[in-house]
Amino acid sequence: MIYRCKNCDYKTWIKRARCPKCGAIEFDEIQGDNKGYLLISWKLRVTPDGFEDAYWLCLININGTKVFCRSLKEPKGVMIIKDNGICEPM
Ligand SMILES: [Zn+2]
Repeated sequence: MIYRCKNCDYKTWIKRARCPKCGAIEFDEIQGDNKGYLLISWKLRVTPDGFEDAYWLCLININGTKVFCRSLKEPKGVMIIKDNGICEPM
């Protein structure tokens, strides 16, 4: 799910109370966008308590919106984000 600010068109993957760009509070919800191509990733070998011992932090581009996701498999090419927020290569 991508949230698009009704005022300035800013898009974000995470639902926010206010648009980080213009401060507006109304968003459109864009369904069905959960695939994008990998821009860059970082392998984390030290992670917060409660998470896996290692994972990749990925920045992917979904229709022009850059979003972060976490992958348990080595990321490459086109990535898909699942409902739990974890992404994986297709
Ligand atoms: Zn805005």
